[in-house]
Amino acid sequence: MPGYVDDTIAALATPPGTGAVAVLRLSGRNACSIAAAVLRRRGSSGPPALESHRARIAVLIDPASGEAIDEVLVLPMLGPRSFTGEDVVEIHCHGSVLIADRALRALLVAGARGARPGEFTERAFLNGRLDLCQAEAVADLIESSSDAGREAAWHQLEGGLSRAVRGVHDRLVDLRALVEAHLDFPEDDLPPKTDAEIAAGLDAARTELDALAATFAQGRLARDGIRVVLLGKPNVGKSSLLNALLGRERALVSEQPGTTRDYIEEPAAFGPLKVLLCDTAGVRSQAGTVERAGIERTLEVAAAADIVLVVLDRSQPLDQEDASVLAASAGPCRLVVRNKADLPAAWARNEAMLDVSARSGEGLPELAAALRRALPNGPLEPSREPVVVTRARHHEALIACAAGVGQARAALAAQAGLEIVACELQDGVLELERLLGRTDVDDLLERIFRQFCIGK
Ligand code: GDP
Repeated sequence: MPGYVDDTIAALATPPGTGAVAVLRLSGRNACSIAAAVLRRRGSSGPPALESHRARIAVLIDPASGEAIDEVLVLPMLGPRSFTGEDVVEIHCHGSVLIADRALRALLVAGARGARPGEFTERAFLNGRLDLCQAEAVADLIESSSDAGREAAWHQLEGGLSRAVRGVHDRLVDLRALVEAHLDFPEDDLPPKTDAEIAAGLDAARTELDALAATFAQGRLARDGIRVVLLGKPNVGKSSLLNALLGRERALVSEQPGTTRDYIEEPAAFGPLKVLLCDTAGVRSQAGTVERAGIERTLEVAAAADIVLVVLDRSQPLDQEDASVLAASAGPCRLVVRNKADLPAAWARNEAMLDVSARSGEGLPELAAALRRALPNGPLEPSREPVVVTRARHHEALIACAAGVGQARAALAAQAGLEIVACELQDGVLELERLLGRTDVDDLLERIFRQFCIGK
């Protein structure tokens, strides 16, 4: 639906701040006339020629006063050969906050409207340049902070998920047509050959959907990273260990027990995946009310962890509080460390525990290696297969579609009536159309695009 909106939007596309260049973006049917109103050919009072996909030097002027603001590079990309599918003009000016600000104001004075977050990508979606999964991939690509996340987002932007989903979608639509063709002749039973064909088609679709949905286990980790939660009573050295693992100061370290009141979360680089290290309020049996709220939060955060890292202090005898931390955290994805290995040990090490010292750095490489191995979905290496499903929204749609297909298959086997088979199939088809953004998208658009940055 080209030209679905009349206004032309403008925004700074580069991060605010000082840099070599700042890029402003204009998109919409008046992009060229607005650009022409704020640009002059060098040494001339006329606007520069705005030819598609041809960069030119021009002078940016204040349209109110005519004052020259900066020398800029102009790059027009006329629709439909542009990111949004509309006429787009990029203006590259010198990267000063003042110039970027004046340039944007000039565009607004000349008739553009300031873009909302994600509005360029939203227009690309509404103009059919991207489907919804690809639009989400744009946001994921911008936000990726690990190679695995970037790779998964790139695969999705390039259409990996969309193609797989469209494949199953088209197959289900064909099957529904086949079922519906026989609805028109109620006196006839489904010929055995057709019945077998539909059953086989449903089984194949189900297998594909299950395989796609199963990639979410790795995909979630690729996009969101692995959450490692440090758990332990106050003063065992959780904050110090977090800083040591990050290689920088982040958590508040204090000699007063119970100072890390809530929790903090920091991304750390552990190879190709993003790892979020969470430091939590110490778990203490006799805590004040503020601390107790923190402790409840701690247990909540720990429950959502991919790996729980229990921290004990080897320089002090183990006590009831350590015992309750160990009891609260028992599970397959747990590592236990004895911190303060630079001090003499007050108790004997259990075989499964690692000795580390946040202070001296002893044992930290071994701990990093153990974290990599402890992942619920295998080692911390990107899988060779491209990860397909990275967002819960996609995963839920695939699961819901698979359920519809399963119901259709069961109804067929039970000879429950072709109407029911067709109806279940239709539910499955709708789930995939929602995933691709072909239907029922109004509420989704707001949620998805407003999480973008402005200028994208
Ligand atoms: P948290 O309450 O568990 O987060 O513990 P902190 O990280 O705040 O540390 C509590 C105290 O233990 C501080 O005085 C740290 O300097 C000290 N500490 C932390 N790690 C070590 C370590 O490996 N060796 C020694 N000797 N002291 C440590």
